[in-house]
Amino acid sequence: MKSNPDIKKVVRQHAEMAEFFSGGLTVKKTTAEHTKKNLEITSAPEGQTEGAASAVKIARPPCSPEVIKELEDIAEQTRKCRKCELGSLRKNAVPGEGNTSARLMFVGEAPGADEDTQGRPFVGRAGQLLDKIIAACGIKRQDVWIGNILKCRPPDNRDPKPEEIIACIPYLQRQIELINPEIIVALGAHAAKTLLDTPKAIGQLRGVFHEYVPGIGHKPIKLMPTFHPAYLLRNYSDDNRRKVWEDMKKVLAELGLPVPQKTGK
Ligand code: URA
Repeated sequence: MKSNPDIKKVVRQHAEMAEFFSGGLTVKKTTAEHTKKNLEITSAPEGQTEGAASAVKIARPPCSPEVIKELEDIAEQTRKCRKCELGSLRKNAVPGEGNTSARLMFVGEAPGADEDTQGRPFVGRAGQLLDKIIAACGIKRQDVWIGNILKCRPPDNRDPKPEEIIACIPYLQRQIELINPEIIVALGAHAAKTLLDTPKAIGQLRGVFHEYVPGIGHKPIKLMPTFHPAYLLRNYSDDNRRKVWEDMKKVLAELGLPVPQKTGK
């Protein structure tokens, strides 16, 4: 792929997407200190906002065929799972999807109606907003991995029950262990509280990195809690959008990716 060192162009593209996601906040400049670790910058046609999503490529070597096979096995197990009552209520299990060697993973709460229909995570309205957030970061959905605490939809989108989480969480724990991302973004209270095993509110948890340990002897993975896109849709204030964007900027910085700076409002 052709390399283009014009970082300004990339930043402008992030800006367009960030503006789209945040409903009017604008971007000033990139931070000088961002590293170019694992970063490839490609050119996109002038004024083409779609190009923003392909501006930055997160490169990590593909994982082994054994890892891919085990991830496929887990997905198959979730499709047959009857460990809780949700197994008999679902149309489709939603095992999670994305790049199996992703540096960045998003974890939500549980599938909704659209996800249940399609067997894919975050494909409804909340998913469209998550796509905007990912694009605002200048990365592609296909370069990250996206999953949920629960693999099956709770009826009427009610909160997950503790026994459902206990039954289901080993699938996600093993998926995290196998994919071994550098950073997990926990979307919303259920994901953050479950993965961090804490009763604290999302408002207290978000904005700083925590550590998640997927298994005994496994090195801790940085975890950034932020608001769930569905919560954002219900509470679409400048303040909430800015908070999510601030959280994502910390994630980008930690990954060594370009960090667009928004102007204050
Ligand atoms: N909300 C979630 O938490 N997960 C999805 O996959 C969709 C909506």
